[in-house]
Parts: sequence; C-alpha cells; structure tokens
Amino acid sequence: MSITVVGTIGIDSLYTPFGDAERVLGGSAAYFALAASFFDRVNIVAVAGTDINAIGLHPLQRENIDITGIDIQPGETFRWGGRYHLDLNTRDTLFTELGVLATFQPKVPAAYHGSDIVFLANLTPAVQESVVQQIPNAKLRALDTMNFWIEGMRDDLVNVMRHVDIVIIAEEELRQFAGISNLRAAARSIFALGPQKIVVKLGTYGSILLDADGGYFAAPAFPLDDVRDPTGAGDSFAGGFLGVLAERLQAGHELQLRDYKRALYYGNIMGSFTCEDFGVQRLLQISTSDIAQRYRNLVDFTHFESRI
Ligand code: AMP
Repeated sequence: MSITVVGTIGIDSLYTPFGDAERVLGGSAAYFALAASFFDRVNIVAVAGTDINAIGLHPLQRENIDITGIDIQPGETFRWGGRYHLDLNTRDTLFTELGVLATFQPKVPAAYHGSDIVFLANLTPAVQESVVQQIPNAKLRALDTMNFWIEGMRDDLVNVMRHVDIVIIAEEELRQFAGISNLRAAARSIFALGPQKIVVKLGTYGSILLDADGGYFAAPAFPLDDVRDPTGAGDSFAGGFLGVLAERLQAGHELQLRDYKRALYYGNIMGSFTCEDFGVQRLLQISTSDIAQRYRNLVDFTHFESRI
C-alpha cells in the first residue's frame, strides 16, 4: 500500500529576510514526498525538463520514495521564485514559468494503481483530474491548490474538486476561491462541490479541520526558535497529514475523527521542520525520532485537563 502524489518538481529561487537560495530543488511533489516518506511509501507522478540533471533528483532517491513516475522531457523544468515578507506568512511570487509542465499529460505507472491515498499536490488542475481518474480505487483522495490556479484555471479546479474527499488549502486561498472572508462560510462553497473535509493552513498559526457536518478542530503550530525559509511548509504539512492517515489505513483501521486530529498535529510538525532551513534541506536531516519528539512536545504544549 502506498500514497501516490502528483505535483511539481521545480527549480526554486527563494528570497527571505534571512538569506537566499537560488536554483534549488523544490516543487510541491518534492516536499510532499519527503515528508510523507517517514510514514509510508510514496510514488511520485511528475514531469521535469532535462535541465533538472544539473541539480539532480538525488534528494528524492530514498528508500520509501519511488521516482520512476517522474517523466523527464526535453525542455525546461517548472521554475518558481518567491520573496517573503518579514512576517513570513506572506510572500510575493516573483515568477512562475511552467516549462514542460505546460504540456504534461501524466501516465500513472501500473505499479501505482493500487495506492490507498492519492494526493493531488499543487499543479495544473487538469493534470490533477487526469491522475485521480487513473487511480479509481483509492480509499482517500486529497487536493491542494493555490492562487495561481484559482485565478487562471478556476473551472478546471472546480471540476477536480468534485472528485476529491479532502481539500487542503491555505487560509487566503480559501477566501480567494470562495470570494468570502469568513472561513466557515467560505468552506461551505467547497463542501457544496462534494468534499467532506477541508484542512485550512494558517501559516504560523497552525491548521484547522472543517467537516461538512459542522465538525471543527484546531491544531496550533509548533513554536520554532529559528525560521529561515517557509517554502514547501504547506506541501510538507500535507505529507505529514496524509502520511499518518496512510499508516492508519495500512494497519486496517477505518479513519475516525481522532485520526484526523492526530494527522493535523503531524502535518504541523512536518511543516515546522521544513521552515528551519532553505528548500528541502531540513527534511533530509531529520529522523523518525526527531518527529516523535516534536509530536510529544506539541501535545504537551497544548494539552490541559478541562473541568467542563
Ligand atoms: P508552499 O510553500 O507549500 O506553497 O510550496 C512552495 C513550492 O510549491 C515551491 O517549491 C514551488 O516550486 C511550488 N510551487 C509554487 N507555485 C506553484 C504552482 N502554481 N503550482 C505548483 N507548484 C508551485
């Protein structure tokens, strides 16, 4: 059993108040796969241009990651540049160059067809749609998106949202998608399309889970001493969140609300690690015991005996 992710493999240029990193490996699929690989096997469906060879995919060559679904095409890899503001919750996109992503027609390898979970990470909604259709027996389908696709390909995005169980989305992007500022009201415009759960990423404030039946849960962010680069925190969040759900499915359990709550904590924790260094660097250094320690700390920081 495994998770299949479709997303970008990118070459990123990152500018933060604490330093820069130019032309480094990034992309939504890269961060997601590294974070999720601590919990389950991850198969990547993505496209990259031949220029990726200069950077190399070696950070993704890990025991729990299958990269045979990364299609290398003649041309340029997806490129993205971002500059962060001092609060690190907001950033300006400097450029988004689709390169070979513009013509990508994914073919999901047969070995990935039995995946329990499909994650449609940030990329072209039509490509997300194609991948979800190619894995019809998945037990759980989740989707992430961002301003670029909400603005440019809204109809395609609405279409793919009709075919997923969970939407994972940043606070501002939920507001932008719905055109409504109140998050619970904005969430209803996604529930109306079919998804039963929405996970809202709140940056340094953590994340919340909204259920179509009115359920609500909030998980605070892990408090960090040093934040260097938040790029990929959202994708790493999704990796931790879905990784923990995959573990539960793998053990033969039906997913309960308490599993989703725990998954939200692990999502926040994987996002927090990513923020501590540029690009994917921090995810390459940590171990499962670092993750377990941070989970215990976060539970300890937030738990109290209520008298209600
Ligand atoms: P996050 O900080 O979680 O939003 O993820 C940033 C990562 O997503 C970077 O590595 C970028 O290469 C990638 N990215 C940025 N814009 C897009 C986009 N429009 N579609 C897909 N991936 C993107």
